[in-house]
Amino acid sequence: MPTENTKAAATAPRPAPATAGPVRFAGDPNASYERRLVLDHVVAPGAATLHQRFAAVARAVRDLLTERWLETREAYNRANPKRIYYLSMEFLIGRSLTNNITNLMAEPVVREAMEREKLDLMELAAEEPDAGLGNGGLGRLAACFLDSMATLQLPAMGYGLRYEYGIFRQEIENGTQVERPDNWLRRPDPWEVVRPLRTVEARINCSVHIRNGAPQLEPNQPRVLVGVPFDRPVVGYGGRTVNTLRLWGAAAPDFFDLGEFNHGDFFGAVLDRVTAENLTRVLYPDDSTDAGRRLRFVQEFFLVACSLADILRRFREGNNDWHTLPDKVAIQLNDTHPALAVSELMRVLVDDVKLGWDESWDLTVRTLAYTNHTLLPEALERWPVGLFELVLPRHLEIVFEINRRFLDTVRAKYPGDEGKVARASIIEEGATRAVRMAHLAIVGTHSTNGVAAIHSELLRTRTVKDLADVFPERFGNKTNGVTPRRWLNLCNPALANLITDAIGDEWVTDLAKLRALVPLADDPSFRAAFRRAKEAAKTRFTDWLQGATGLVVNPVSIFDCQIKRIHEYKRQLLNVLQIIVLYNRFRADPNAPIPPRTFFFAGKAAPAYTLAKLIIKLINSVAGVVATDPAVRGRLQVVFLAEYNVSLAERLIPAADVSEQISTAGYEASGTSNMKFMMNGALTVGTRDGATIEMAQEAGEENFFLFGLTAEQVATSRGWYDPHWHYNHDPETRAALDMIGSGHFSGGDPNVFRPIWDVLLTKGDNYMHLADLGPYVRTQERVAELRADPDGWARKAILNVAHSGRFSSDRSITEYATQIWNAKPCPVG
Ligand SMILES: *Cc1c(COP(=O)(O)O)cnc(C)c1O
Repeated sequence: MPTENTKAAATAPRPAPATAGPVRFAGDPNASYERRLVLDHVVAPGAATLHQRFAAVARAVRDLLTERWLETREAYNRANPKRIYYLSMEFLIGRSLTNNITNLMAEPVVREAMEREKLDLMELAAEEPDAGLGNGGLGRLAACFLDSMATLQLPAMGYGLRYEYGIFRQEIENGTQVERPDNWLRRPDPWEVVRPLRTVEARINCSVHIRNGAPQLEPNQPRVLVGVPFDRPVVGYGGRTVNTLRLWGAAAPDFFDLGEFNHGDFFGAVLDRVTAENLTRVLYPDDSTDAGRRLRFVQEFFLVACSLADILRRFREGNNDWHTLPDKVAIQLNDTHPALAVSELMRVLVDDVKLGWDESWDLTVRTLAYTNHTLLPEALERWPVGLFELVLPRHLEIVFEINRRFLDTVRAKYPGDEGKVARASIIEEGATRAVRMAHLAIVGTHSTNGVAAIHSELLRTRTVKDLADVFPERFGNKTNGVTPRRWLNLCNPALANLITDAIGDEWVTDLAKLRALVPLADDPSFRAAFRRAKEAAKTRFTDWLQGATGLVVNPVSIFDCQIKRIHEYKRQLLNVLQIIVLYNRFRADPNAPIPPRTFFFAGKAAPAYTLAKLIIKLINSVAGVVATDPAVRGRLQVVFLAEYNVSLAERLIPAADVSEQISTAGYEASGTSNMKFMMNGALTVGTRDGATIEMAQEAGEENFFLFGLTAEQVATSRGWYDPHWHYNHDPETRAALDMIGSGHFSGGDPNVFRPIWDVLLTKGDNYMHLADLGPYVRTQERVAELRADPDGWARKAILNVAHSGRFSSDRSITEYATQIWNAKPCPVG
């Protein structure tokens, strides 16, 4: 049976054996729980609120893991292995209580204690706020990678920022998105441990003031920023390794600014402290239009400067030769957000350590590595040279010197080709000169990777081709993955138990083992059991849905899900158009033999992304019209679930029958929700984009529902594509568009959705919705046909689960560790 998917897997760090049984803990969680209630909350156990009980249980679980956490740190200090540092502006963690209990394998102990106390674990777990320190896929990937690194016993650490406000909370009012602040730290977080003794300083050359919500930067006023570490435990599966996620909170220095103090401005100096503390107040939503983005630049520098200071301090504790830095430290940059690490590490080595430029450069490049996450031009970071100059003048000098030397190399390789020099340059010339952060990251690191095969290929051959020509050996691919602990074992107990009963539990740490399910796809009794597991997951979800929102859906309908950030390239609009076509078919023939479907949408729109917000309104408006039409009652329903976050994904994905992955080919870097759905036995309707291509290769295209233009076709047909052709030649397309344009879904007002009509027709349909609509509708017909054959459906779904093993983040991390970091596991006794 083939279990190795890549050559790297042969030399992979071995996963912690799940069969070795749980580690033993010091202390009794029951006693700890009561002590926590009394000591932390000063409340008699009988009088505690639900939230106090949650906090006490969480603290009791943290007490359980504390010893392992210390032992992990000591084991690393003793062995002095090469360490891995994952720098990311986002960690979309979600809840931790049940995840930590399962990964500690402490469920039996905790359950027993909870029974004695008559506590309901699920009820308590729901009290924990989602740690939403990220926007979407990129931040969730960072969280999955931490789980895998701890499970693989790698000596790794995550570094990020401790935002007091994470991604906004989404409410829907009259069908429209409203953003509310997410004050997730309003109450003390039971997982974090503040480390005041590990405080570090970072220097910028301007003062920062916030007036009317907009940051004002005053030049030539050197300031010290103070970073306070807040640590969170990252429990590997089996509980042997407990790694650390260190999040920096901004504070003001303990001394007053002397200049201002001497002028008697005591009040001003104290107010400056408040401004300093604002730096890590809030996560930036992923829109590039925000006027306040200058503060984001300072945030990025703050992450880099604090993390590097901490990393280098630790390096110096165990090593006295700077030349061994790349042998002892690997730093991965999650997108360009921490790319200032290139100039900051150079600054430290040249200015503070006083190594020569060439030596410093060699160490920098060999220590750092970069992951690219997007090809969208508007999402590639470019910071104005003026902003660099204002905040970090020394960094700007260093960047110019890096670029000067780099362009010499380019000229030597391509003499006379000044076009190439300009395209490759780290500096973009133009009305406002800017630093291209992706170029800085590629030139200043030894490895650049994309996150799916097609994405890495397009990155190398199109987006940064001129740099790939200079450094072909630096470019590679590391297809994303997700942790099977959270995304199968924890979120889908019915399916997880069925799988374990059938093939044992090794799949939890070695997901390729799921291949053993292949023969069971043809076993009628296993198929029946598989269908029962899906029904159980659907019931669990519909029970929650009814309790939380009052909504009732047809439980035997196909649960068809598109949950992700709202973006034109992800094409929620294509799904809406298809739903309107289906709606019209139901209306035209009320007895049509079409199986009932419930379409679920969830996702946030960036607050300044007007069209994305209008798409949310359209989805809700279509949902409203469909809901009140007796012709489709019980057969077609559209549901928009507000406040998409990790916990909502954990609830809905196990219940899904169909996963919608329908981005315009060439635009979705990888996708990771596609993988979560596959593991949970949903069938994918998708375009040939991102990792969906590799998923279909693994499962076999006959078990997938692929459709639409390829990335190649999208790129080459751009020039002559005309959406009007489809409007004029396909009656169903025209009918759907006319309903939107005529105000059918907006109480007769044709103006409400006019911008959507314009985007799809007048403005040329940049994301080619209409080109793919016909093939999409026909693919959905094939899905409906398969529904009439429950055994055939179950067979395909089982084969999808069986071939999802490659999309474990354990596989991704194994490839990073062997091919980029050259780091090995460091088991903790
Ligand atoms: C997995 C996940 C994502 C990424 O979804 P894509 O469909 O791959 O864009 C975003 N948000 C949350 C909460 C997730 O769990």
